[in-house]
Amino acid sequence: MSEKIRIGIVGSGTMGNGIAHVFSIHGYSVVLFDISKKILENAINIISSNMQRQCNKNIISNDDMKNALKIINTSTILESLSECDLIIEAVKEDINIKSEIFKKLDSICGEKTIFASNTSSISINTLSRNFKNPRKFIGMHFMNPVPIMKLVEVINGKKTSKETTDLIFSISKSINKIPVECNDAPGFVSNRILMPMINEAAFCYMEGVAKPSAIDSIMKLGMGHPMGPLKLADLIGIDVCVYIMDILYQGFKNKKYKVCPLLINMVKENKLGKKTGEGFYNYEF
Ligand code: NAD
Repeated sequence: MSEKIRIGIVGSGTMGNGIAHVFSIHGYSVVLFDISKKILENAINIISSNMQRQCNKNIISNDDMKNALKIINTSTILESLSECDLIIEAVKEDINIKSEIFKKLDSICGEKTIFASNTSSISINTLSRNFKNPRKFIGMHFMNPVPIMKLVEVINGKKTSKETTDLIFSISKSINKIPVECNDAPGFVSNRILMPMINEAAFCYMEGVAKPSAIDSIMKLGMGHPMGPLKLADLIGIDVCVYIMDILYQGFKNKKYKVCPLLINMVKENKLGKKTGEGFYNYEF
């Protein structure tokens, strides 16, 4: 059954285009939605060049790439998603934008459509209030870069049905991902553990305990992490790290989640990491 379902993806940025890439490579028809044609064209270019890289490494064939690109349709009209069986939302991490989209989708789509959010931190229970039937809503948290990372963190809201969770598990497996289940809580599991580590690494640097490169080397060589926490913070975006730490702090009301002042200053100075060319490290564009 899962091979035939139609996938809708809302938001064609870093995560949305990665999700479209992976589903289309596995033969799923995709409708990719965003707010402008230009953004969508850019997304298709990124998907093509990422697929081309996979072809060069013999991970996929040229035919796989051609067939996948053929079954990605783009749209700036939300109604184009009305026939989709599973819609995955991957827009900006903003509860108001996500809620507005979910409310519209809920009125456009039929009873059978399942809805998932790729949110990194917003409560699945809160987002589920946008649906007439919250049993069909779930968190489907892909990791960046989507074509490479194996995990899908599957987040059950209080009202998510077992059928919805089972479907998301089988679909995730069919695209060669490994789904792992958890319940809704601030930061879920991944960011509740990752972000305090990044925050602590920032404190180590701020207090002069070690340089960023030394902090990262200690965590890579000593703990077997593939990437040090400060390099990872630059990749994620310092603004995103601050935002998620704040979700943890507000959610648990515990001062152990208080964001490191150095991270706040970096955001003020637009040192957001790789995307602005400067964070804990410098990047050339
Ligand atoms: P992004 O900024 O790269 O892309 C967001 C996309 O949403 C943009 O293309 C934008 O045009 C589109 N968008 C904005 N408003 C919209 C609207 N009203 N309707 C439709 N599209 C709209 O963001 P991203 O990094 O891809 O993150 C998307 C989601 O995935 C967020 O919830 C984020 O927390 C989550 N996430 C991000 C990462 C990561 O490492 N980047 C990892 C896991 C989860």
